[in-house]
Amino acid sequence: MSQAPTPSTHALPSYLNADQLGPWGNYLKQVDRVTPYLGHLSRWVETLKRPKRILIVDVPIHLDDGTVAHFEGYRVQHNTSRGPGKGGVRFHQDVTLSEVMALSAWMSIKNAAVNVPYGGAKGGVRVDPKKLSLGELERVTRRYTSEIGIIIGPNKDIPAPDVNTNEQTMAWMMDTYSMNEGATATGVVTGKPVILGGSLGRRDATGRGVFTIGVEAAQRIGMEVRGARIAVQGFGNVGGIAARLFAEAGARIVAVQDHGGTICREAGLDVPALLEHVRLTGSVAGFAGADKMADDAFWSVSCDILIPAALESQITAANAGRITARMVIEGANGPTTPEADDILHERNVLVLPDVIANAGGVTVSYFEWVQDFSSFFWSEDDINARLVRIMKEAFAAVWQVAEENKVSLRTATFIVACKRILQARELRGLYP
Ligand code: GLU
Repeated sequence: MSQAPTPSTHALPSYLNADQLGPWGNYLKQVDRVTPYLGHLSRWVETLKRPKRILIVDVPIHLDDGTVAHFEGYRVQHNTSRGPGKGGVRFHQDVTLSEVMALSAWMSIKNAAVNVPYGGAKGGVRVDPKKLSLGELERVTRRYTSEIGIIIGPNKDIPAPDVNTNEQTMAWMMDTYSMNEGATATGVVTGKPVILGGSLGRRDATGRGVFTIGVEAAQRIGMEVRGARIAVQGFGNVGGIAARLFAEAGARIVAVQDHGGTICREAGLDVPALLEHVRLTGSVAGFAGADKMADDAFWSVSCDILIPAALESQITAANAGRITARMVIEGANGPTTPEADDILHERNVLVLPDVIANAGGVTVSYFEWVQDFSSFFWSEDDINARLVRIMKEAFAAVWQVAEENKVSLRTATFIVACKRILQARELRGLYP
């Protein structure tokens, strides 16, 4: 085996700096927490602190009024030791490079945690899609795809939906990449419409995974899901579906917050009616079957389970002390800051970390990619059964590591995942 490098002591470039605030700094703190548990593999930990490849692109489009607008786009491939890059693309007015770097790194951890054969990647465009017409959105998507086309591909890096992107976005991305290649390449993105090689069950997969992990954890701590009071932040593809599944299992959804406002109902919200309201109006605000509440009061709502399923850094040192839940299930990526993590830990709140709790989406993305390669499509029952099995097994392994090492589930998931990534790193060695 080749000689392993000693960790670099060189100063990092500023955009990689650990002391920078925000998601990338949070991710680096999480890596530091796991390093003592990596044994001889800790020699390679520097690998995890530097994304393999960062691409920043200009995305110019014609607006409907004839003027030209420029947006900034990113694709970051954090690690490809275990396979091609994999991770979503988000469209949001606040997207930054630091955020996309952190999200790409969390994909590396997540993919390794559930043992799907991918590295980690993520993309984003700094744009408010709500301010664009459908045609403008299509042009942003196509130009962005064309620009990152030099580094994506079915065997290189496979995008998927994330915040504010969906099946239609993936159809445009698949088409743009295919047009440039001169051949239809369904495997270049996942989360596509089923008619274009998408997978049954993909739309609900992240929410189903959140629910599955939540139920597994509840059993272990002796919490009844039936009758449990749940507060959910974000009511899109993750929070909305998880809420539906929990409500079907007899839980009460007592509060929901999204970008439009916060609503509550102690007796439990009518989730199917709320989903329909959100489909029609774009937000939970104004839902007739609920009371309105102040946004900040959401964090002190009396509940058993809290599901942050929106954006990063929502649970912070400022509100973690007020959370009443016994269990937090991270549907979003990076919703809890390391400082808040410590506060929740001290207060005995069990945190089911993003890197395992929301891995259901990419797990079914993996199924979609496999189905596209073999051009053989599975039934929805088969997909859901395989998803649940992978999630349960991965969670059981993480739970055991947490107990053995007396660490949080986040650190335990990082232990499992980082070992897999760094073992691959070591076996492959350095090229040239
Ligand atoms: N955007 C999702 C995530 O954060 C799914 C990624 C994928 O399916 O590649 O996990």
